[in-house]
Amino acid sequence: MKRQFKLNFELIPDSCWFSNLRSALPAGAWDIIRKKAYARAGGKCMICGEKTARLEAHERWEFDDERGVQKLVDVIAVCRPCHEVIHIGRTALMGREREAAERFMAVNGCTYSEFRAALGEANEKHRERSAKEWLLDVSELDKFM
Ligand SMILES: [Zn+2]
Repeated sequence: MKRQFKLNFELIPDSCWFSNLRSALPAGAWDIIRKKAYARAGGKCMICGEKTARLEAHERWEFDDERGVQKLVDVIAVCRPCHEVIHIGRTALMGREREAAERFMAVNGCTYSEFRAALGEANEKHRERSAKEWLLDVSELDKFM
């Protein structure tokens, strides 16, 4: 059986519109969404549960590979070390892959080979998804405002 981890890689297809979401929202909207997520978190990372003075907002997407639809399903507040794991591609480009690997293993209580296997799987999925165009579904955006 495949192990379920608490902290996972959430790689966004290269072909998607994600990076523009914040700027595409009406003025001030992202700020409202972000602050609501922080309020829900109550000063703790919503993934690892550690207290932190500095939370970051993270958008969660669901990918419908059949229909090619990328849907916004949640906006959560996470600590920076967990956020770096989630976006490991970007983190590796900044030369921090080792820290992210350590964080992944610590939060998930897993081995280095489990980390490598999970990363390999995430990269594979990322390659597949980056090869096609995605339609963006933000119909539930109101839920977060
Ligand atoms: Zn965390």
